[in-house]
Amino acid sequence: MNIVLMGLPGAGKGTQAERIKETYHIPHISTGDMFREAVKNETALGQEAKKYMDRGDLVPDEITVGIVRERLSQDDCTQGFLLDGFPRTVAQAENLDETLADLSRELDIVLYIHVSRDELMKRLTGRRICQDCGATYHVTFHPPENEGVCDKCGGPLYQRSDDREETVGNRLDVNMKQTQPLLDYYASKKRLVKINGEQSIDQVFADIDANLRRESP
Ligand SMILES: [Zn+2]
Repeated sequence: MNIVLMGLPGAGKGTQAERIKETYHIPHISTGDMFREAVKNETALGQEAKKYMDRGDLVPDEITVGIVRERLSQDDCTQGFLLDGFPRTVAQAENLDETLADLSRELDIVLYIHVSRDELMKRLTGRRICQDCGATYHVTFHPPENEGVCDKCGGPLYQRSDDREETVGNRLDVNMKQTQPLLDYYASKKRLVKINGEQSIDQVFADIDANLRRESP
């Protein structure tokens, strides 16, 4: 099972990745972890990538793809893998296809957990934090007993600036713009499966599971 998992921030990708990993016994490979590991293990590409990261620059595609290639060649990936956060661009997707072809493999499925922009806004802007004890709440999914007041210590709740509507909206729009060409690419390759992410966590996973079973030999 060679899987790419896609979804906008707030779509529940992390939770579903955990469940896929546990059920199918394949490694969950997120870009962040992969970079950290390459840097820690001081591989040639890891050291190359570190130079860019230390400067706060974006790591160029050829290095990123090289690190992905090294990771996918490791023993734990022989039965499959779950890629998360990569590819981000069509160029990277094409590169991934070539890399896999070199390894005599191919992608089986691209899962896209779809959640509407409105629902994502609701999920991502609802967080409130207690100024005194740091307890977290959500205005819809985990509200305090009294609005704006911490259940635990009575302290005032506030919204982090990262969670404000404008910031979240901008982040989503940038992400959506970046994601659409990738979705088009994988749809044209007939690998894309859209999963309805506006259901319970269990139902989202049941849909994913049904699609993966259909793909497995
Ligand atoms: Zn508190």
